[in-house]
This record gives sequence, C-alpha cells and structure tokens, in this order.
Amino acid sequence: MEQSLFAPLREEGLTTLEIRHDWRSGRVALRGAREWPDDTAWARYGKDFGYLDLLVDEPVHLGHRETLALLERHGAGDHLARVIGRIREGRHEGMLLFLNRARDIRFAYHMHSSRLGIRNGRHAIRAGGIRRHEPEEDEFGVLVDGLNLSRAMSYKNAAAHMPFGGSKITVQCSPVDLDDGEAVGFLAYCLDRTRSVTGPDMGFSPGLADAMKEGGYSWNITGGFHNRIGPTGGPTAYGVFLAMKEAAAFRWGSPSLAGRTVVVQGLGAVGRPLVEEHLVKEGATVLVADVDPRPVEELCAAHPDRVRPIPLDEVLSAEADVLAPCAVGGILDEDTIPRLRCGIIMGAANNQLKAASPEEEIRLARLLDERGILFQVDWVHNAGGVIAGMEEYLRGEDASLENVLAQTEKACRDGTRENLRAARAAGVTPTEMAYRTHGERIFG
Ligand code: NAD
Repeated sequence: MEQSLFAPLREEGLTTLEIRHDWRSGRVALRGAREWPDDTAWARYGKDFGYLDLLVDEPVHLGHRETLALLERHGAGDHLARVIGRIREGRHEGMLLFLNRARDIRFAYHMHSSRLGIRNGRHAIRAGGIRRHEPEEDEFGVLVDGLNLSRAMSYKNAAAHMPFGGSKITVQCSPVDLDDGEAVGFLAYCLDRTRSVTGPDMGFSPGLADAMKEGGYSWNITGGFHNRIGPTGGPTAYGVFLAMKEAAAFRWGSPSLAGRTVVVQGLGAVGRPLVEEHLVKEGATVLVADVDPRPVEELCAAHPDRVRPIPLDEVLSAEADVLAPCAVGGILDEDTIPRLRCGIIMGAANNQLKAASPEEEIRLARLLDERGILFQVDWVHNAGGVIAGMEEYLRGEDASLENVLAQTEKACRDGTRENLRAARAAGVTPTEMAYRTHGERIFG
C-alpha cells in the first residue's frame, strides 16, 4: 500500500491534516478537515476571498481519535508513527498538510519553532523556504527533508538574529507554470495559512515570488527577480566566502585563499557567484562540478587560468584545501567522511550532515574533527539569503543591499569567528558549540 498521509485525505474527500506536537510534554494532537470544495477558484484567492474565509457550507472537522482511526483504516498508521517519530526527535512543533485534490498539489508545512517570532508583531512568525519535489518521490523522504530543513531554519534565524522562528514548506507537484493562477493561488492561500514568510528554494523559480506578489495573491514571499535587492544567491555566496576566510585564518593563520585549491560542488544561484565574484578574484584555484555541464563549461571558458572541471564522483575525495558544498544536502555521513581529503569544509548547501537531529549531527561532526577537517554546521554561515529575504519583508521599499551585506558580515563572518574560537576554548567541535550557543534561545 502507498505510504502516504495525503492518500487517505484524497480518498476521504478531506483537504487538511494537522499534526501538532508539544515537545515539552510529548503530547501529539491530530486534526483532519475538509475546508474547501474541489472546484474552488484559486485564481481568485486574494481578490474574492481571503485565507480566513469559510469556503464550505458544511465543513468537516475530525478530532484526534477520529483522524487517527481514519489514517489507520487506510493503512497509514505506521507511516504516521514514523513521521511523528521524526517530529519528536527534532523537537518540532508539528506539520500541516493541505491537499488540492483537483490538481494533485500536496503542500506540507513543517513547523520547527515559533519561539523567536511569536512576539514580532507581524503576520508571519516563522521563516523558511518553499521547495518543490516531484509527485512520484517517496513521501516519507520528502517530509523528512522538510523537517530537517525547518529545524536548520530555526537555528539559522537565531544565529542571524532574525525575529522569526524556523519552518519549511515542501510541495509535491508537477512543475508550476507561473501563469497558472489556479496553482499559484492555491500555493499562496496555503502559504498565508501557515503564518510564515517564505522564499523560493530548489524546484521553484524566483519568479514564483513575483507571480504571487504582482498577481495580488500573497505578500508573505520574498526573493523574486523583481525585488529591490536582487536574488538571494549573491548575499549567501558573500557570507559563505567570508566564513571560508575566517576558517582559513583559524586553520592556517591567514585569511587569504590566494593559491589555495577550493572544490565547489554545484554552480547554481550560490555556487556560481561564489566562484566568479569571490574565489577567482581572491586568486584561488577552483575545481568545479555540476550535474548540469553548462555552468561548468561557461566558468572554465571564462576563467581558464583559475577554474578547472572535476568529475562529479571525485568531488568528495579530491585533494584540496577547501571543499564548498553548494548543491544538495546530506552528503556527509559515515561512508563519505573517511574518503574526504580536504582541510576545511565550508559551503552553502543546507543540511550537509546526513542527520535527523542535532545529536546525530554533533556525532558526525566529531568524525570530521577526528579526520582533522575543520567544519561547522552550515546554518552558521549560509544565512545571507534569509537575511536578504527578511530585509525585503520587513523594510519593503526601504530595503537596501547595504543593510543585507552589513548584516551578512555580522552573522556569517563575525559569527563564524566567534563560533570557531568558542569551540576551541571549550574543547568541542564548532558544530557542537553552535548548537550550545543557539539552542538555548530556541528551547531554553
Ligand atoms: P540552485 O538550484 O540554484 O543550484 C544548485 C546547483 O547544484 C544546480 O546548478 C544543480 O545542477 C547542481 N547540482 C544538483 N545536484 C548536484 C550534485 N549532486 N552534484 C553537483 N551539482 C549538483 O540552488 P542554490 O540556490 O544555489 O542553492 C544551493 C544550496 O545552497 C542548496 O542546498 C540550498 O538549499 C542552499 N542554500 C541556498 C541559499 C540561497 O540563497 N539560494 C541560501 C542558503 C542555502
């Protein structure tokens, strides 16, 4: 039987499943509901109706026991238990699922923490990106991806002094046509229900933010092509570069990367400016890899004396001073760590350690430390993007790139320096130090 929480909703004509978790008491509460009809005109969201409107004449709301019984009746009980297990493990606030049955859009909102945003005086109390997965992907893997990313967002927002808790949205659906008001309107409605502010992540174009705002659907999204401060990849690359120099200074006594070899995995919105705007200008030798051959060819052709290609399967085992993961997460685990031959790992990718909890991340970080590799958990230094998004959300027309870069320097450069020094003084890994420093603000 399909391991899905959405399948029972689809079969029972429901739209909503809420899983709430109180990490202090361990209590879990379920709610199932039918909150809109299948023929809702989502293209009219934000014009003819809002996210607080009641959209059905006779809404269905199921309590905890009824919802649990319904899921078990459809064979989803084990799957639910595994999902709740992950929610408990990461001390998450829960998950909110919305199903568009007519278009098969499966929207999952992963709530990690609202603590830092609950009194911020805004509609949005949590912040984190929106990521698309293909419809045929394994649902458990998608939900775990969202949970892990939402947890990292809580810490990233805390470390960057943002007045928001952490969350993430995952959507399983076919690629979204930005002129398709039915799909964009539905995503905007769901977003507004979450009380979060988001920005397009992998699988969604920055154009989604422009389509939602300019189409009058939702204002709780940032990072479009048309925003005042430009795409988030630039500030993220800047923060990673500054952190890399701090790590070099800590490790080798000089922040200069001139003459150093840096491997960059992934040449997208972050990896490309990291190479072109920073590493090449710094005088580093850069080895680049991407599953898409085009950016590799373009960068090597533009900078033949500094940039060279490296085969995809040699990225992790390449002998280099620095490895900068700027593509997928989950690349560092018991299998890959023994193969590494770099001195420092410092990159933009979220959740580089393959782990479901801070405890597991700290354990893997110790393995890196034992191999003599300087590493700190990514959320300490990849906050440039969220800083840019929050500048846009909080300051609107007054948003400025100067503010973003200044805050990025404070969070990513100064934050890395302080974290590395504190870790050395305490005799723990930088990853453990970062969790000690910021965990207290989220859970204390
Ligand atoms: P992107 O989608 O623009 O680029 C990712 C690039 O990696 C693409 O060119 C893709 O072809 C390539 N890629 C995918 N799998 C690969 C693999 N196995 N090996 C080599 N290349 C591969 O994404 P992005 O915005 O540049 O983000 C990169 C990473 O940084 C992601 O993990 C993202 O979550 C994280 N991040 C991004 C930002 C931001 O502001 N964009 C902020 C913080 C963290």
